[in-house]
Amino acid sequence: MLGIKSLSFSEIQKKIERKRIMFDLSKSQKAFAEAVQLLPGGVNSPARAFGAVGGNPIFIDHAEGVRLFDVDGNEYIDYVGSWGPMILGHGHPYVTQALEKVLHSGTSFGAPTLWESELAKIVIDAVESVEMVRFVNSGTEATMSAIRLARGATGRDKIVKFAGNYHGHVDSLLVAAGSAAATFSVPNSPGVTEGTSRDTVILAYNDVPGLLSLFEKCGSEIAAVIFEPVVGNMGCVIMSPEFCDALTFVQKTYGTLLICDEVMTGFRVAYAGAQSLLGLRPDITTFGKIIGGGLPVGAYGGRRDIMQNILPAGKVYQAGTLSGNPLAMTAGIATLKTLREMNPYPYLERLGTQLVDGVLSAAKKHRIPLCANRVGAMMTFFFQDGPVTDWETAARSDTARFAEYFWKMIHQGVYFPCSQFEALFLSAAHTEDDISRTVAAAEKAFTEIVNK
Ligand SMILES: *Cc1c(COP(=O)(O)O)cnc(C)c1O
Repeated sequence: MLGIKSLSFSEIQKKIERKRIMFDLSKSQKAFAEAVQLLPGGVNSPARAFGAVGGNPIFIDHAEGVRLFDVDGNEYIDYVGSWGPMILGHGHPYVTQALEKVLHSGTSFGAPTLWESELAKIVIDAVESVEMVRFVNSGTEATMSAIRLARGATGRDKIVKFAGNYHGHVDSLLVAAGSAAATFSVPNSPGVTEGTSRDTVILAYNDVPGLLSLFEKCGSEIAAVIFEPVVGNMGCVIMSPEFCDALTFVQKTYGTLLICDEVMTGFRVAYAGAQSLLGLRPDITTFGKIIGGGLPVGAYGGRRDIMQNILPAGKVYQAGTLSGNPLAMTAGIATLKTLREMNPYPYLERLGTQLVDGVLSAAKKHRIPLCANRVGAMMTFFFQDGPVTDWETAARSDTARFAEYFWKMIHQGVYFPCSQFEALFLSAAHTEDDISRTVAAAEKAFTEIVNK
């Protein structure tokens, strides 16, 4: 009050305006300067660096429900949700209480526990094609192991993957991968030898003739086709019904296994997975993200006769010191049980419609080319007219405009994925009011973009 006394009304207004414009990220900047000395690029996963949008990443202090709070005290509506797992929002009381309870039982024994069977039962009950399951510690481990299993079970070497689909940083799958690899335009990584990727055939997503002609040539040599049933890692891209039928056709005709990578989509687009929406019956399914409820869990599961090939039931080697540890299983159990009981999917569908309709109509008003792909609580806004159906069409997006939009949203307290080629996620903790505020922020961002 004393300080304000000497200021005129217009000076106060100027001061408030300055504060609004100068969004303070100085503590994050300082933390990043230290981190780059300690961690390559200052991060433990490239998707977290703001490489595609310029500037430095924001350091998070804590989160609650759908709100993120950074180390400078700024507050954001979170649309990243740890890149997928946090479908219940952050710190959901059921998950937190369950973890607190288990913490005192011990964190890892390297011996079987009841928690593993409990989570296995939930996954097997939820996803029709899964009859047995093996838990691992990440999505990458799940897809890596699923590929080994498919090769071991079929006695074949070749695998098929689709351009722009990301299956973790498995050597043989790190070819034409999406996610951070797409963002950085790194089609291949140094350190991945020609030998390891030689048996990986890359095709375009949704390209039925491409798929069928490959199988006519060498279908009987192909162990597996691995795919994202709804792609999230080149931005959200939806599988056409014809492509879905073609996958089932090659599965039935050539004895090739379908590996449905539901690390992102499992328990996200539907409780029973994207495969339940598509009517697919894959031989092997991989999981991650949501099934760990924010702790490191991955899993692969599928047909009993195939899963029985895994050591010690069979001969395909795969192991893990911390696999199925009590804390990780507990977070997964609490999350999946809550999802099963609350069934948030109709609510998420409604919020998703509200967000897409709101943002698209704001863009239209300002004549900004924008299109959206969405399945339930998973979606991407592409800065182009569309349609986006594969990597080639996704890559036509205006990434410079995306970067501009991203920062304008950050400055209004909306935290979106920091790349055009990622999906954003809704959680059960989002409210209609959060969506309205986000649409208003987008509208303001678009106004500034066209008026600059
Ligand atoms: C995130 C993701 C992975 C990798 O999972 P990590 O836990 O990051 O190793 C694999 N496949 C898909 C479809 C993903 O979205």
